[in-house]
Amino acid sequence: MTPPSSPWLHEAIARIEADYQRSADTHLIPLRLPAFAAHGIDLYLKDESTHPTGSLKHRLARSLFLYALCNGWVHEGSTIVESSSGSTAVSEAYFARLLGLPFVAVMPRSTSPEKVAQIEFHGGRCHFVDSAGAVYDAARAIAEETGGHYMDQFTYAERATDWRGNNNIAESMFTQMAREPHPVPRWIVVGAGTGGTSATIGRYVRYQRHATQVCVADPAGSVFSAYHRTGDSQLTAPGSRIEGIGRPRVEPSFIRTLVDRMVDVADCESIAAMRALSQLLGRRVGPSTGTNFVAMLTLASEMRERGERGSILSLLCDAGERYLPTYFDTDWVDRTFGDCSAAQQKVDALMG
Ligand SMILES: *Cc1c(COP(=O)(O)O)cnc(C)c1O
Repeated sequence: MTPPSSPWLHEAIARIEADYQRSADTHLIPLRLPAFAAHGIDLYLKDESTHPTGSLKHRLARSLFLYALCNGWVHEGSTIVESSSGSTAVSEAYFARLLGLPFVAVMPRSTSPEKVAQIEFHGGRCHFVDSAGAVYDAARAIAEETGGHYMDQFTYAERATDWRGNNNIAESMFTQMAREPHPVPRWIVVGAGTGGTSATIGRYVRYQRHATQVCVADPAGSVFSAYHRTGDSQLTAPGSRIEGIGRPRVEPSFIRTLVDRMVDVADCESIAAMRALSQLLGRRVGPSTGTNFVAMLTLASEMRERGERGSILSLLCDAGERYLPTYFDTDWVDRTFGDCSAAQQKVDALMG
């Protein structure tokens, strides 16, 4: 056992804190949507693509490393192993290298080549398995073989982040909204991969006693929506085709009681919304941001029908450049999802 006073541990925590000190907060972008603005409904996206490792997983990776270090689970030379659909592994590879630790990402073979390249760029190694459901056992086995540590984001994401504040994503959103017409959001919309982001935001709004409700946008093939409805944690599903969100099993980190509403989003709708939003912003967003945008538009339309005013916030989870050969390639989309033109019309109509 390494004692808590280990110089290595001190240095490791100091390096992460210094990295944090050097970093800036992410921007909150107001969306220009006259069809809703005219009715007093304002939509915003927090741009999580601008972290050094390109997604909201940068926050999670920092929290998971600090949690593991402070628990005494990670030592000098420990191999860090993670099961991931890609983005978390990119961010953890960054922090593993910051601490001089070997890193192994266990991912489905379908993970985008751009993410694989980024993991390797940050000095990590990739181990591929045939299905999303096979990542957990493979990661645990590699950690055992190497005498390393399985980070296990799907279990620990919900507890590694300080939900009361400490500059978490929720506190930052509320601070950035302070001078807006509707500073307390009516809804915050997120996707769920680990469920960690929805848990942090859900706890924060309850603790602060805000009137904000949390909505999870769930892609086709994910188990979370059925679990939210039934409470049956043994349910399984085929798994999602939108990278980063939707899971084949009920992840321990997804806390059902913190989610007020689920919106099911068909794959073609996610793709259509990803395209429409990329056009609106003048830059490409990833597919899970498209899923979020469909749920935002659904909630905004409902508010307009009821004559309700207010703001709706969500996340720009990552940029579209990671997905140029896949979700932004029309041939790939046609092959993978079929004809999405009906969904495109639906999304365009929702945007007004
Ligand atoms: C992980 C992830 C999400 C969902 O965040 P969780 O906190 O894990 O639920 C959404 N989009 C992308 C691109 C992600 O990588």
